[in-house]
Amino acid sequence: MKKVIIAEKPSVAKNIADAFNIKTRKDGFFEGDNYLITWAFGHLLQLYDAKDYDENMRGWRLDKFPFIPEEFKYKVKCANGDRTSVDRGAQKQISIIKSLIERTDVDGIISATDFDREGQVIGDELLLELNENKPVFRILLNEWTEEEVKKGIANLKPNEEMKSLQDAGISRQWADWIIGINLTSVATLRYNPNDKKILNIGRVLLPTLKIIYDRDREIENFESSTYYKLMATFKTKDNDEFQGTYYEDDSEKFDEKSLLENIKELLKDKDAQIIEKQVENKKDYAPLLFNLSNLQGYVTSKYKGWTSDKVLKVAQSLYEKKFTTYPRTGSVALEESLKERTKKVLDVVKRGLPYENQIKFVDNKRIFDNSKVESHSAIVPTYMKPTGLSDDEAIVYTAIKNRFLMQFLPVAEYEETKLVSKVNEDAIKGTFTSKGKVQKIEGWHIVEKAETKDTILPMVSEKEIVDVVDSTVNEVTKKPPKLHNEKTLLRVMETCGKSFKDEEDTEAMMASILSGFSIGTPATRAETIKKLIDASYIKYKGKSLTCTDLGKTLIEIFPAKELLDLEYTGRLEKTLSDIEKGKFKKDEFLGMIKEFTINAVELIKKDTSMLRNFKAEVPEGVEIIGECPICGNPVIENDRGFGCTNWKNGCDFTIWKSDKFIASLGKKVSKQMVELLLKNGKVGFRNIKSKKGTTYAAYLRYVRQEETGYYKWEMEFID
Ligand SMILES: [Zn+2]
Repeated sequence: MKKVIIAEKPSVAKNIADAFNIKTRKDGFFEGDNYLITWAFGHLLQLYDAKDYDENMRGWRLDKFPFIPEEFKYKVKCANGDRTSVDRGAQKQISIIKSLIERTDVDGIISATDFDREGQVIGDELLLELNENKPVFRILLNEWTEEEVKKGIANLKPNEEMKSLQDAGISRQWADWIIGINLTSVATLRYNPNDKKILNIGRVLLPTLKIIYDRDREIENFESSTYYKLMATFKTKDNDEFQGTYYEDDSEKFDEKSLLENIKELLKDKDAQIIEKQVENKKDYAPLLFNLSNLQGYVTSKYKGWTSDKVLKVAQSLYEKKFTTYPRTGSVALEESLKERTKKVLDVVKRGLPYENQIKFVDNKRIFDNSKVESHSAIVPTYMKPTGLSDDEAIVYTAIKNRFLMQFLPVAEYEETKLVSKVNEDAIKGTFTSKGKVQKIEGWHIVEKAETKDTILPMVSEKEIVDVVDSTVNEVTKKPPKLHNEKTLLRVMETCGKSFKDEEDTEAMMASILSGFSIGTPATRAETIKKLIDASYIKYKGKSLTCTDLGKTLIEIFPAKELLDLEYTGRLEKTLSDIEKGKFKKDEFLGMIKEFTINAVELIKKDTSMLRNFKAEVPEGVEIIGECPICGNPVIENDRGFGCTNWKNGCDFTIWKSDKFIASLGKKVSKQMVELLLKNGKVGFRNIKSKKGTTYAAYLRYVRQEETGYYKWEMEFID
């Protein structure tokens, strides 16, 4: 009997076939003695569109939302860029997979999609449709080399054990459908009905936009300021020169230029004494192994024309070619069980390097640490020596390889020297500080030679006398914060807004990443940035990212503020990771999402802030009664009342001729009455009958209740 292996992509199916030396390729699969190896193209199925559930949903109208199907259904995915036709390739592949599963010589299925929640769903959505009763197993791998494939096949898991990963994947998929379909439709109808452009609203999209928006505002509101500092040049008896910065009370920043100008005058022809000399040896550790965000940050900030989306695509291709491990990981360490494997890889990767003999395998917690690994280890090379890499692949592979090698080179060391000099002039209260930094051990820096920023101080000893030979007062302008770039944005998304000084603040950063609070996942962040660009919400400014007017306006008007709150979105992502761990129920999560969506839809529907931007047309020959108080468009009369012509865009201003309140006063809604009301904001009535039978006069206003969106008559008595 044979088993059907389903890989996520053709290239991975080929790797599995190679591992078992299976050469027979048929239409859509490989056939060996024990295995039939076939493939998907990522998702072959997609969720129904709203109109597939209900023909009525074909045209968007505000009153059709919220729309939440009772049961989610899948269909063959649509052709790229055309939602009306089916993807023929996907359709064909599905029937191939189906016929393989149904073969009588097949007694089981192995799902070999990627080991993450998206991969789990890609396999499971197919098998739910195609597999009646044959047992399903799962192969869980971090790389597709021959050794790992064989090891994985020997350690298959029943697919039922993957239930919580499946639940997390499905929760993600359905939640994004519910939020995306409902809020995109309602927001587009409400805020942009006349323009063809769709306002794309999503669970991860909006909080990410908000991060960029906040930075833009911070820069806009930045008030520039300047300060002054004084630098002096000293000369030793051996004629070596060095510079010092003037400090008073631990600060080198002075508001008044004149104060420093006076000291500068006093410095002329003076000498100074070295009153303090400190020499410290400092260690400089290699940066940690790459997770996806750090790899994306590194490459996008180092090379021109790279986006994080491109980095992921190239890293994915290296993974599919067996040269590197699984790329969509958040971890910056390796599982402790990988020590032997790592030794082997290191032996292959270091071979022939000019500094080969400096590279030694070491076992420490910066590299191997189970507590810092979530599902997948950091991205590292495999034992396969790459050949035939494209230029782009070479860039990413080299980055991954170098980062790996750095771990096994000596820790770099440098000597930091601090000198404090006191000028022999009683009127000068402060002292001058000079700092020098000299590299002592190059260590891992040898891998990517950066220009050394050594500042060498001359050999001087404490108490030595030096001459002051020059001095300058410099004006320093405080700089505003910088616009986000992909590197800084990914970091904020990864840590859900918590900022960490640099990669070396790893303990806090890892704790934050492992806590599960984040915006999106490593797998989706690059796509989110791309979607924001495609939606014209943000744009590039060099390598930096900034909001467009549309993006800025959207953030400012969008009424469901929870979706702009990093804390809220972070909690949703954390809940998904809890579902993955079996600590939270799928149905409970989807319940939360539905409730949020229903509320958000109502809030957007009620929002009238943008209605004034739309101009409605009045049919020819129709009399205009007045101007709509909500949106400024003409109000006209119809059979049942007086309404705003801007109703197509959602203005609901209407006074019904059958208004019960007006009737209860013994009055009628007339054209003259509406005319006066629209003109003056209020309309007066005489001879209103009270319940006691007396009469009185009052002004009436027709007021929209912001909370509910309903209109209410308000009365003001006239004496
Ligand atoms: Zn109106």
